[in-house]
Amino acid sequence: MQNTERVWDLVEAKRPEFEALSDRVWAMPELCYAEQRSAAEHAAMLQQQGFRITRNLADIPTALMGEAGEGGPVIAILGEYDALPGLSQQAGIAEPRPVETGGNGHGCGHNLLGSASLLAATAVADWLAETGTPGRVRYYGCPAEEGGAAKGFIVRAGAFDDVDIAISWHPAAFSGVNEPLSLANTRIDFSFFGRASHAAAAPHLGRSALDAVELMNVGVNYMREHMPQDARIHYALLDAGGIAPNVVQATAKVRYLIRARNLPELTKLIARVEKVAEGAALMTETRVDSRVIAAVSNLLGNAALERAMFENFQRLGPPPFDAADRAFAREIQATLSPEDIEAAFRRVGLPARPDAPLCDTIVPLDARGEKMVGSTDVGDVSWAVPTVQARGATYAIGTPGHSWQLTAQGKTDAAHKGLAHVAKVMAGTALDAIRDETLLARARAEHRAKLQQTPYVSPLPQDAKPALDMSRQVA
Ligand SMILES: [Zn+2]
Repeated sequence: MQNTERVWDLVEAKRPEFEALSDRVWAMPELCYAEQRSAAEHAAMLQQQGFRITRNLADIPTALMGEAGEGGPVIAILGEYDALPGLSQQAGIAEPRPVETGGNGHGCGHNLLGSASLLAATAVADWLAETGTPGRVRYYGCPAEEGGAAKGFIVRAGAFDDVDIAISWHPAAFSGVNEPLSLANTRIDFSFFGRASHAAAAPHLGRSALDAVELMNVGVNYMREHMPQDARIHYALLDAGGIAPNVVQATAKVRYLIRARNLPELTKLIARVEKVAEGAALMTETRVDSRVIAAVSNLLGNAALERAMFENFQRLGPPPFDAADRAFAREIQATLSPEDIEAAFRRVGLPARPDAPLCDTIVPLDARGEKMVGSTDVGDVSWAVPTVQARGATYAIGTPGHSWQLTAQGKTDAAHKGLAHVAKVMAGTALDAIRDETLLARARAEHRAKLQQTPYVSPLPQDAKPALDMSRQVA
């Protein structure tokens, strides 16, 4: 096994351009399906690097794909570039100070996510061209990870049908192979329709849609005691029926986010929540409609690819953070509680180390963290093709996801080092798959065996379409 890789030099050679891309996307935070400028930046970079571009992937205006190379296996590297509402924050300072009050911000580091993935794909493309090796590498620019589940729609459109393996990553506090553990979920909007009337003069003629929403929430709150313990249900009010208390609210809308360990459990839970909604409608003599906005599958692991990626991490060592990086990470940590920091270690299954504000190790492949998990739309890709994900250290240990502290660290030197580091890991893993037919065969066989046991059924109803208007609803 080599300890240096030509493809790592190719990553280094183009690193400044991609750090600049990440910083530009950081500075134009765009929400779910409204990432026009960020997607255009990624398309321009693909063009500049000589990729063949497919725009409007799966009929989603901000989804795109670039391909380079000829013949051979097809390696997909997945990127994202969507931001979050309310997380506007100035870069490089350790106190909450928004760039724009209430504005969007890259509080999940997707500016880094997209740039590192595109850098990895570019380095692999350059290596294929330099060596004349058959093989194709694709960069998938995937919008709306934060709630839009775009990858599920992209999978459903067949964009991964001829792909051999998929590789991705997510910014994190630690470096290592991502434990393939995430919850299946679905977002459903429940709209209630009642009858307006004067709340004092003719209350008996009104039927309140807001009452129905409140009763539904109460019903689901009681149901929580009787569901599998790793399931999660959350809700947000999208429409409370207006601002006038003296008008019986004729319409109201609530968005439910339902999560479960896997699709069969999710399906059962959805049916129960729907019954509660119908019960609320029955009690209030209103009508209820539901619309699935998005849905994702749980992640399917692939041990062969995880091992290959881990070996790349080991050969590379942890990201080369220096004293200045650690000093700023300590300033960020001073804004966190000791529990935040301890919990971060526990999540990856490592003993807590107060002396390490930034990751200085590789999380072992067999480390088992605490099972407090979220969801990702990479889940659906992992059912379509063998998939592996890295986590790449880019921020202070203990930084909560979706926080101003995370936005503040999106353009630091540490973030840039983490970006290049994980790009090398992904490019190295891609080359392993291109050069080693037995690795590909093992990855495929494992994937096939898992699908034979549990066939993949998209969690998206057939008539569900990407909620392209989603960010307008939250704005
Ligand atoms: Zn994220």
